Amino acid sequence: MQKHIVIIGAGAGGLGSAVRLSAAGHKVTVVEANSYVGGKLTEKKIGNYRFDMGPSVFTLPELIEELTDLAKQDDKFEYIKLDTICNYFYEDGTLLTAFTNKEKFANEVSEKFGETKESVYDQLKFSATAYELTNDIFLNQSLHKLSNFLNLKTAKAILNIGKLKMGKTMNEAHTARFKNKKTIQLFNRFATYTGSDPYQAPALIGIIAHLEHNIGAFAPKGGMHDITMHLFSLSKKLGANYLLNTKVTGIKTENNTVTGVETSNGFIEADIVVSNSDIKNLYTNLLDKKFAPKHILDQQKSLSAVIFYWGIKSQFKNMNLHNILFSENGEEEFKCMFGDKKHYSDPTIYINITSKITPSDAPEGCENWFVMVNVPPNESGKPIEYISEMRKHIIAKINRVLKTDIEPLIELEDVLDPYLIEQRTSSFGGSLYGNASNNKFAAFLRHANYSSKIKNLYFTGGSVHPGGGVPLCLLSAKIVSEMIAEKN
Ligand SMILES: Cc1cc2nc3c(=O)[nH]c(=O)nc-3n(C[C@H](O)[C@H](O)[C@H](O)COP(=O)(O)OP(=O)(O)OC[C@H]3O[C@@H](n4cnc5c(N)ncnc54)[C@H](O)[C@@H]3O)c2cc1C
Repeated sequence: MQKHIVIIGAGAGGLGSAVRLSAAGHKVTVVEANSYVGGKLTEKKIGNYRFDMGPSVFTLPELIEELTDLAKQDDKFEYIKLDTICNYFYEDGTLLTAFTNKEKFANEVSEKFGETKESVYDQLKFSATAYELTNDIFLNQSLHKLSNFLNLKTAKAILNIGKLKMGKTMNEAHTARFKNKKTIQLFNRFATYTGSDPYQAPALIGIIAHLEHNIGAFAPKGGMHDITMHLFSLSKKLGANYLLNTKVTGIKTENNTVTGVETSNGFIEADIVVSNSDIKNLYTNLLDKKFAPKHILDQQKSLSAVIFYWGIKSQFKNMNLHNILFSENGEEEFKCMFGDKKHYSDPTIYINITSKITPSDAPEGCENWFVMVNVPPNESGKPIEYISEMRKHIIAKINRVLKTDIEPLIELEDVLDPYLIEQRTSSFGGSLYGNASNNKFAAFLRHANYSSKIKNLYFTGGSVHPGGGVPLCLLSAKIVSEMIAEKN
């Protein structure tokens, strides 16, 4: 039966839900506080440069294709498969190219770091096995329905639990497998794909390497923002209505059942509400505090980031689409961010250059640099004061590692930081991925995709099950729409 469904927020989870619920025949209204859709998945044009402002690593394109097929529209979403995943730079001048081709990658790791090729294959095999055993349990379904655990797949995973290295942290598992700290640092870095700490996160988080190294790394032809525009277009063609510049200020209930939302432009009646807002923000600002599940909301948050967007008046031949300049001391870096809750003076720097594959993103002879370092989430609620200090550390490191003088080449600049991320998306402290995955129970300590206290209230996006990152947000939209279909 057709329902009126209000979606709060047009981030990846909100857009994915809008496509699915409109395709299912519901009347969908998306209420978005910003003047644009996409949330973190947005872009900015500055001068003659274009920058993706948030996500840059793209995996599991089939999740977008599934939405395209479901919508049955003519819109095409075009992307390419990368043959290089990332260029890794170390302080001593070593450059390691992570090729998508497993044999080339294993050769490179063996030649440059002295590892056996078998150890690389074994690591990739572990991530593939762990993904296959856990994917359907932890990612593709609700973790909060008992019936989902009473099936063959779960039984198989439980029988194979030894293979999942549940008792080990990522760093312990990688240290046991590899002898060179450079290899360990390379594989440890996948913890940051969930904004987590490889010295605390379970080895199982290593399944993320499987997505890039075994399945493949991809890039949308027009940049990551194409994902936003594609889903926006599909949902509009299916009839979804978007109210931009409209903030939801409260979710209204009667007898613990949703009746609608109060917004900056008045009340909107709804049969069902799907919130794409950060779950902590939702319980703090949009609902009566008596509903708040304190133990879930108080979980440690994932890392945030400071990003400089630089128009660079030059081209760097040894750089690729994705580049990492590693910290000299990975352990200290994570201790500083998670233990001391401070930014680190020798941070690992990620540089994304989309003009390497889409030349029109920068003027001729130039490159668009997205220069990102992870920092702790901002719990102060106040603007960040360390940006100019951070900029100096970053410039010094880039000059050292890339043997250049970068500052005179920067012809324009913009900055994003944890405070601004929170202001623009409502994500608590500017966390990129909701709760951190720093313990083996993290998956069970994320909020469910539905409210157990308020009927017809559902949740999608990076702060709820199955977690952050564009693919998982799209999976949360799938879980929510399946739950709504089951009940209506
Ligand atoms: C710098 C950066 C780099 C990242 N890198 C990657 C990457 O490489 N790969 C990857 O997969 N992921 C990456 N991520 C994470 C990824 O961007 C997020 O997990 C994902 O985009 C979050 O989507 P979401 O559905 O949670 O919505 P969000 O993007 O958080 O958007 C929520 C939306 O809801 C709106 N909203 C909230 N409250 C209200 C309200 N009360 N009323 C109206 N509207 C409201 C907000 O305005 C916002 O538009 C990165 C994020 C950042 C910031």
